Amino acid sequence: MTRPDDVIVALDVGGTGMKCGLVAASGELLHEERHPTNAAAGGEAVVETILEVAAALAGKARADGRTPVAAGVAVPGVVDEERGIAVWAANVGFRDVPLRDLVSQRLGLPAALGHDVRAGGVAEARLGAGAGHRHVLFVAIGTGIAAAHVVDGRAFAGAHGSAGELGHIVVRPGGALCGCGARGCLEAEASAAGLARRYAALAGAPRSAAEVAAAAAAGDPVAERAWREAVDALADGLAIAQTLFDPAVVVLGGGLAEAGEQLLAPLADGLRARLTFQREPALVRAALGDAAGCLGAGLLGRDAVEAA
Ligand SMILES: [Zn+2]
Repeated sequence: MTRPDDVIVALDVGGTGMKCGLVAASGELLHEERHPTNAAAGGEAVVETILEVAAALAGKARADGRTPVAAGVAVPGVVDEERGIAVWAANVGFRDVPLRDLVSQRLGLPAALGHDVRAGGVAEARLGAGAGHRHVLFVAIGTGIAAAHVVDGRAFAGAHGSAGELGHIVVRPGGALCGCGARGCLEAEASAAGLARRYAALAGAPRSAAEVAAAAAAGDPVAERAWREAVDALADGLAIAQTLFDPAVVVLGGGLAEAGEQLLAPLADGLRARLTFQREPALVRAALGDAAGCLGAGLLGRDAVEAA
């Protein structure tokens, strides 16, 4: 990408919606649009929607006088980035979909397929809260919990495309039942959904994670307890992550990170208290918001051009 008008078609496909756009070589998001994933229609329909949206974005780029030079697509689940295959994603109905080649063929451009959290991590590491650090751990705390270990701007995917599943380390043996079938996984104990469940069990009444956070900040003792227990579980999880990966900075994203200092301050204290020989990382809030996955998809698309 040497010409200033070159752009990447970028899509971040989630369970309910797709965040899509045109990303410049600089990493700037030049144009943004959102579409429903319509996952209920099944995996094949979702793939067709992805192809149509990608083609329309390439058309939009040309209509604006720009040159689409590649496409990047980020999807959830298990992703084989090397072969460009969406191996498995329950919430969008993917099973061994050769999505990279399908996008490349439809657009007539080089394409990259990435994992949504790893793509978000790449964007935060290169352009966001991790910029300037070589070793970044991005942790997304939303409905679930997942992480991306990014070194020199590249995320490690693992041998089978499922590295970084920090949400499924067991921090409370025998604890809350997780969607994966195990008990006491970090995600079951401390995700936004886990926090809401914990509060409901303690209070006997439902509240969303954001409501629990607000109530805890306002001094509600039951919400304070639920919040503290979730933060403790997160600190256990981050201590394990620090021991394994030794990042310089841990970037926290996802819905729960919107609590800001209410989360960061006690989490940093809890992490510090658990570390013995390990060096303490900087703990910072993500900077790119929910555009991170789309920007990351664009960066992966740019990498595909440069590698070609
Ligand atoms: Zn689990």
